[in-house]
Amino acid sequence: WFEVHIAPLRLEGYENAAVVSLRDLTESRRVERMRVDFVANASHELRTPLASLLGFVETLQGPARDDDKARDRFLSIMREQAQRMSRLVDDLLSLSRIEQHLHLRPDTPVDLGILVAHIVDTLAPMAEDGGIELKVDMTGQVVVPGDRDELARVAENLIENAIKYGSGPVEISLSPLGASAVFSVRDHGPGIAPEHLPRLTERFYRVDAGKSRAKGGTGLGLAIVKHIVARHRGRLAIDSAPGKGATFRVFLPLIEPEKADSA
Ligand code: ADP
Repeated sequence: WFEVHIAPLRLEGYENAAVVSLRDLTESRRVERMRVDFVANASHELRTPLASLLGFVETLQGPARDDDKARDRFLSIMREQAQRMSRLVDDLLSLSRIEQHLHLRPDTPVDLGILVAHIVDTLAPMAEDGGIELKVDMTGQVVVPGDRDELARVAENLIENAIKYGSGPVEISLSPLGASAVFSVRDHGPGIAPEHLPRLTERFYRVDAGKSRAKGGTGLGLAIVKHIVARHRGRLAIDSAPGKGATFRVFLPLIEPEKADSA
């Protein structure tokens, strides 16, 4: 996209002279488009559970007023919808907070081994419910400069996705590799087709929206992961093929050895 300006110019010896200037708008158009899409998507995601909540309130005030059984059932659906909205608003706030601080590099020493072990413990009941085994393999002390809560969020989102979308065991590993920490989460689920891979970390991009919503997903988990990893000057790599499961790897710069002791 280009913005074109044409201004007449008086130039001796020329009858019809003009200055033509071109401004490349491709990038600003793309950013503006993404912003508009984001607001539209976020509104749509909030409107759906909100409409359902209102519908149930009206039913409870009207036709189901004296029906005890229906009331209990409706109230538990309403609770689920309210929880979904609350998760969505929390994720939107996290995303905007991280985006605001994207240029600031967090630098508290964080021991990733302790952090990952803690997240695995927190998610163990969810894995057990889904009949999924969490296998953990960690070598050596891995300390990175970072923000503990944000890094916990990365581990949580990736392991949670592997439990939600995977099947069979989820293999979680953490080890140093050269000057980087490598955190990897591998599942044996249906995997992801190559055409989806480049868009997977976009906000609200889902391969199967129905499945994601049924599992309580907001469609923002991987966008949050991508932003946190970027803020830590790291890299996220996704390896997957249909029927072959998926592996999400996060590379983070290790802390300089003399600073590691304060982790
Ligand atoms: P959601 O809240 O929908 O899980 P995410 O941003 O975490 O949002 O993930 C985006 C989409 O990527 C998911 O809806 C799902 O389609 C796909 N996805 C994420 N992790 C996996 C995985 N381990 N295996 C297969 N598909 C996955």
